[in-house]
Amino acid sequence: MPSYKAPLRDMRFLLNEFTDPARLRSLPGCEELGPDLVDPILDEAATLCEEVLFPINRSGDEEGCTIENGVVRTPQGFREAWAQFRDGGWPSLACDPDYGGQGLPKSIALLFEEMICSANLSFGMYPGLSHGAYAALLKHGAQVLRDTYLPKLVSGEWMGTMCLTEPQCGTDLGLIRTRAIPADDGSHRITGSKIFISAGEHDLSENILHLVLAKLPDAPPGTRGISLFLVPKFLPTPDGKPGARNGVLCTAIEHKMGIKASATCALSFEEAKGWLVGRPHKGLSAMFTMMNEARLSVGVQGLGLAEVSYQNALAYARDRVQGRALNGAAAPDQPADPIIHHPDVRRMLLSMRAEIEGCRALAMWVAQEQDVATRHADPATRDAAEDFVALMTPIIKAYFTDMGWDATATGMQVFGGHGYIREHGMEQYVRDARIAQLYEGTNGIQALDLVGRKMGAHAGRYLRRFFHPVLAYVEAKSEDERLGEFVLPLSKAFGRLQQATAELARRGLSDPYEAGAGATDYLKLFGLTALAFVWTRMAEIALAKEGKDPTGFYRAKLATARFFMARILPRSGAHLAAVMAGGATLRDAIFE
Ligand SMILES: Cc1cc2nc3c(=O)[nH]c(=O)nc-3n(C[C@H](O)[C@H](O)[C@H](O)COP(=O)(O)OP(=O)(O)OC[C@H]3O[C@@H](n4cnc5c(N)ncnc54)[C@H](O)[C@@H]3O)c2cc1C
Repeated sequence: MPSYKAPLRDMRFLLNEFTDPARLRSLPGCEELGPDLVDPILDEAATLCEEVLFPINRSGDEEGCTIENGVVRTPQGFREAWAQFRDGGWPSLACDPDYGGQGLPKSIALLFEEMICSANLSFGMYPGLSHGAYAALLKHGAQVLRDTYLPKLVSGEWMGTMCLTEPQCGTDLGLIRTRAIPADDGSHRITGSKIFISAGEHDLSENILHLVLAKLPDAPPGTRGISLFLVPKFLPTPDGKPGARNGVLCTAIEHKMGIKASATCALSFEEAKGWLVGRPHKGLSAMFTMMNEARLSVGVQGLGLAEVSYQNALAYARDRVQGRALNGAAAPDQPADPIIHHPDVRRMLLSMRAEIEGCRALAMWVAQEQDVATRHADPATRDAAEDFVALMTPIIKAYFTDMGWDATATGMQVFGGHGYIREHGMEQYVRDARIAQLYEGTNGIQALDLVGRKMGAHAGRYLRRFFHPVLAYVEAKSEDERLGEFVLPLSKAFGRLQQATAELARRGLSDPYEAGAGATDYLKLFGLTALAFVWTRMAEIALAKEGKDPTGFYRAKLATARFFMARILPRSGAHLAAVMAGGATLRDAIFE
């Protein structure tokens, strides 16, 4: 059976040493957030994930969700776990105090999210979707909608969904057919079919609030004509209780490869009563509030699954004995050595670890900028932070989830054949990780977002939010001999990223096909360079502290940083070459 311990030491390192704690505490509402306050929160979050959510991860996968007459049941233990989650106030952690939230910043909520994803991704889907619905309503809902629904979402009494996908319409939301007809009372009647709706129906909460994309009768064609509606499963009574049943039904749940305890529903809206959220025909931008939040969270899903897979692979590699170490017997009194002594097994473990710790650091950097973007007093500082988050969102979503898939497969590989059979739980992580590359916009679409929308936006302004700090850092540290082994490969990768950017910008301007052809490799190159930057900064901290640390934490950081620079970062060269090759081989390909 697998096990999980929240990586609190690394999380605290990032919170207290890597990101700037003074900068976080300078933000309104964060003044008190020192270790005295945050450590107990992280400890409690870890206990909840390790002791409540993790034990029902495997059984939830075995049992899955069921449907009978439109009623969906989650697997055994989920209702009780949700009650504990809700009663502990966890849904409200990062929500607005005006609606009953605790107002904690993303920098802390993100660490909790990672723990949830490691412990039980299926479970995490339910509060995850709810938080997205909360974010969209908070930003775009009329006051009356906010007052009616937000306290319920924040307390976890009611939960939320996002309903975009239809059978004929996935990536291309311009193809939406769901209709919204205005009613005399100011509400709308929503009719249409949605598929693949996570948490679309379940038995965890007494009401479900669907945020639904639909078209008004006078909608312009394509994505410019989409509006967003709030459609509750039960219409609230004046005293805020679930009242009459609305016209929304779950017609089926999907049978799928992973996250089996997350109910993925087909929903039929039949003249359901709904209320417009935001302005008519501007639903897509309102939905993007949810989607950007959600894309960062989906990235963290890849990270969380990679972490739990790594922990179990490491424990197995220490325990399993096969063959002799190539540099002399490690356990001469045993018939064979633990496999952790074989260079190829160490390669697998370190590949996972270097990506995981690098991604966690990058996520924390982005999370802190998200906090700056929403809380800083100075508008120009807020805007700069928002640019940076916008730039990094597709990278976090796609790079992290590709990494999650690779890392969970590598974790399984460490177990040999024992990873492929169900007993050890490693194959579940692989199955659960796969979906994150697909939903919230496939990873190919993230790459197009990076190249098509973010790269050229405002004459490269978004890009400068990343390029300038990296350039300034490399220049400032170029004479630092101890740091040279990190700064040199960082500056090489950064040079490659600059070259790829210039080339894509040049070619993409005259021919969008060229930009599309290089997008995925460009995103990978960007992700690797961003990881090289955070690894160099972590190495700088570790170099200063390794001598005074009896636990070996900083020495291990440095060793992993060296592995990243030597064995993972060189892939940036291959991605540059692929970008430079251009689109001809794709355009001229022949599919017989
Ligand atoms: C388990 C699960 C849960 C989900 N949860 C939700 C949910 O809660 N709410 C919701 O609304 N949806 C949800 N979805 C739907 C999900 O977001 C979509 O499946 C996803 O956006 C892709 O759409 P599609 O499946 O129709 O693929 P398609 O859009 O048909 O894409 C097929 C392939 O073509 C590529 N492609 C498409 N267009 C382009 C283009 N212009 N350029 C380059 N490549 C392109 C894609 O990258 C992909 O590889 C869920 C799906 C699953 C499987």
